[in-house]
Order: sequence, then structure tokens, then C-alpha cells
Amino acid sequence: TEQTMADIGLIGLAVMGQNLVLNMNDKGFSVAVYNRTTSKVDAFLDGPAKDTRIMGFHDLKRFVAALKVPRRVMLMVKAGPVVDQIINELVPYLEKGDIIIDGGNSLYQDSDRRTHELHQKGILFIGSGVSGGEEGARHGPSLMPGGNHAAWPAIKPIFQAISAQVEGEPCCDWVGNDGAGHYVKMVHNGIEYGDMQLICEAYQMMREGLGMTGDQIQQVFAEWNEGELDSYLIEITRDILGVKDTDGQLLIDKILDTAGQKGTGKWTGINALELGIPLTLIGEAVFARCLSALKDERVEAAQQLPASAARFDGDKQEMVNAIRDALYASKIISYAQGYMLMREAANTYGWQLNYGGIAMMWRGGCIIRSRFLGKIRDAYLANPELKNLLLDGFFKTAIAQALPGWRKAVTAAITLGIPVPTFSSALSFYDGYRSERLPANLLQAQRDYFGAHTYERLDRPRGEFFHTNWTGRG
Ligand code: NAP
Repeated sequence: TEQTMADIGLIGLAVMGQNLVLNMNDKGFSVAVYNRTTSKVDAFLDGPAKDTRIMGFHDLKRFVAALKVPRRVMLMVKAGPVVDQIINELVPYLEKGDIIIDGGNSLYQDSDRRTHELHQKGILFIGSGVSGGEEGARHGPSLMPGGNHAAWPAIKPIFQAISAQVEGEPCCDWVGNDGAGHYVKMVHNGIEYGDMQLICEAYQMMREGLGMTGDQIQQVFAEWNEGELDSYLIEITRDILGVKDTDGQLLIDKILDTAGQKGTGKWTGINALELGIPLTLIGEAVFARCLSALKDERVEAAQQLPASAARFDGDKQEMVNAIRDALYASKIISYAQGYMLMREAANTYGWQLNYGGIAMMWRGGCIIRSRFLGKIRDAYLANPELKNLLLDGFFKTAIAQALPGWRKAVTAAITLGIPVPTFSSALSFYDGYRSERLPANLLQAQRDYFGAHTYERLDRPRGEFFHTNWTGRG
């Protein structure tokens, strides 16, 4: 009997792989699966994949032979050398025009390299960011594919069918060439660090600064989630603040305050330093996690270093509104900085990034999904050449409206001695970005003084360099 051929094959039946396969199956695609530890193939077919059309294989060659041409093989395995190892095992069974998709959390430089190496062999490589964890994989992730554009028409129908959908639009579109998909996934993770830290600062101000109870703060987040801040992270924060421990006390108050990290925020920050882009908010969010991790030192310092003696005695509701303004405006700054970084990366790495499409991909399915991202998408749809998000009409107005509250909240935090590294660095960035004149004139003078680095003059054409003998000594 003639065997049915599979639309796509997937290697790697851990959490993500299994859920993506079930998702593809639901959307009407026939899927072949393979896993190094073959017992996991059987367990999958007898368990979650029972009574589906999913085909399991214990042998890589047979697995490949079961795929329709051009063959589409997706890897959902541990990122790193494992991906190269599996690609090497696969290639002998593939033909020119076949497609390998890596959906793991790979470094974008690896995806760059794999796109080129496989292109030499006539194989089309796609490196795709996949976001949304297990739940996203099962019911609709955010997918950020990049790599060899020639492969896109062949994977587009599958990817856009399984991704999250918002208002009838898939949260998946072509990102750009080579490592662009994984690059954008990295920036997405950095932005996630920023969004989380912003919410934590708002929480800290209400808890420590205004002395509000968990219930009261939960109520505030519930209200915020109905407005412009409507997002997954605000929503889960609201829910977290309602969860009680077995003794009836709030669980959140018992959780040790040291944050972990896996490194994607750090990599976004390192890349920003390399490209010379002031990605200050995400940088501060990464450092805030680092500072939190110094718990023992902080406990000791708390005994020795003076706090602020100030107590809040203003109107609480007014301050809560100001905190909301600070959160919203800072969030706009964070995305503006993230887009500045992607724009510079596109210039440096020779990518043609789809900026509106990126916002659309993040609008659903992933951790940073929000109503707000629809506005970013609109901004880039209206003007694909937009230099900076802050210069878009909608965001210009939004910042202008939030500005008084933002300044008020940051001032209050500083007076009360509550650390707000992202609120305050975002405000400093804003004030720097909108400043025609910065004190870099003095900086240039200092550089010229001690190192004869020269300077340009306001009253002379750019590119003309001057040096002064600042001490008058020969
Ligand atoms: P994982 O724990 O990262 O990887 C396990 C899979 O990799 C298993 O199928 C395992 O096969 C395979 N594998 C490991 N070493 C191998 C080797 N030397 N040779 C062949 N296969 C090997 O799985 P995951 O959590 O499902 O994640 C898969 C990928 O998606 C990762 O890159 C991850 O970073 C990324 N991702 C994860 C999430 C998430 O929420 N978990 C979200 C987005 C993206 P065996 O069964 O034989 O060990």
C-alpha cells in the first residue's frame, strides 16, 4: 500500500517539539516525528499523539523518506552544537531545495553561519524564533522566521497556520535574511526583561512607597489591564498578586527576592554595546537582576547604609496614576530603543527587517504580547522608514500626555529612596534624546585636553578638527 507522505518532519520530542507537532496536526498538516531517544517517539504516539495522523520513526533515513518534496525538517532540540550535529546527520539524506528549520533558541550568529553553510550544499535553512513556551507551541506561538528567503513560500502556509492569530492576522511573518529571525527573537527576550522590570518597579513603588496592600495593588493592575497597558505580563501580575499561600498569606511576600536569568537579556545588551546603541532600559533591567542576586550583600548593606527619611504624604490615587504614566512612557522608550537596535543591526548585518511585521509577530502568542504592539505595527505600516518610534504621531502624543506623571513618579521614587532604574533611565534617555545640546562639548574638551583627541566646532563645518593647547604649556 502506498504510504501517505508527511507535509513536514519534526526532530526533537521534548516539550516544545511535542506541542508544535500536535498544533500542526490540529491545523490539518501531516507530520512525521523523530527523536534521538526512540522510546520518546513511542511514548508520544501512544500518549498525546494517540488517534492522530502523526507518523513516528526510529530511523532518520526512513523519517526523511516519509517527507513530501521539497522536504521540510524542523528541529526542536537543545540549542548549540546539537543542532550542527543533527544537521550533519540529516544532510546526506536530503536533496537540493530541501529545507531545514531550526526552531530552538539558537544564537543568531549560528543561524547566520548555518544559512551560508547549507546554502553551499543547496539546502535552504530557516532559523526561526519560537516564543510562548509550551502553551504557545500547543495553541499558537509567536514565530519569527529568518534565513534563506527562498524557503519562505514553502513554510509560510504551515507557519502562519500554527502561529497565534490576532484580529485574523498571524503572529508570524518573514523577518529577514540569515540570522535575522533569531536576532529578533533575542531582542524580543531583551524587551521581555525590560517589561518585567518596569512592572516590578511599579509594584515596589506601590508596596514600599505608598504602603499599599497586596489586594489594593492587585486592583490597580486589574484596572491597568483594561487600558493602554493591557498585556499578558500585566495580566499575570494581577493574578500573581491574588495567590495565597497555605496559611492564607500572600505567596508573593514569601518569595526570595533574587532573580535568575538565562542570558538572552545579557546578549541583547552586549549586542547594543557593540553596535553603539543606547539600549539603556534593557541594560538596566539586566543589571537590576544582577543587583537582586547580591542578596547577602544587600542584607548587610541594609544595616549600614542610610535610607531616605522621607515618607509619602501626598494623594495616593494621584501617585498611582503617575506610576501608571511612568510605566507606560518608559515602556514606549524601551520599545523605541529596541527598534533603534534592530535598525542598526539591519544596517550593520545587511538585513532588510520588516519592522511592522515584527510588532505584529509579537502582538500575540508570546510573553510580551500586548495591545500596545498593535500601535507599533500601525506606526511602521504608516511609515516604514520611521526613524524613531518616539517621532510617530501616536507615541509623541502618548509620551507628552504621560510626561508630567512620569516626572512626578520618578521624583517621588528618588525622594523616598525607592530604586527605579528603568523608570529613571528611560526618563534620562528621553531628556537626552530630545536635547539639542548635550554636555558632550565638555567631554570632547576633556578628551582633547588629556589625549589630544581633537574636537569639532559648532561654528565650523563638520569634519574639521581642532586641537587646543589647554594648559598653555609647550
Ligand atoms: P530541550 O530540553 O531544550 O531539548 C531536548 C531535545 O533535544 C530532546 O528531543 C533531546 O533528545 C534533544 N537532544 C539533546 N541533545 C541531543 C543530542 N546530542 N542529539 C540528538 N538530540 C538531542 O527541549 P525543549 O525545552 O522542548 O526546547 C527545544 C528548543 O526550543 C530549545 O532550543 C529551547 O531553547 C527552545 N525553546 C524552548 C522554549 C520553552 O519554553 N521550553 C520556548 C521557546 C524555545 P533526547 O530525548 O534523545 O534527549
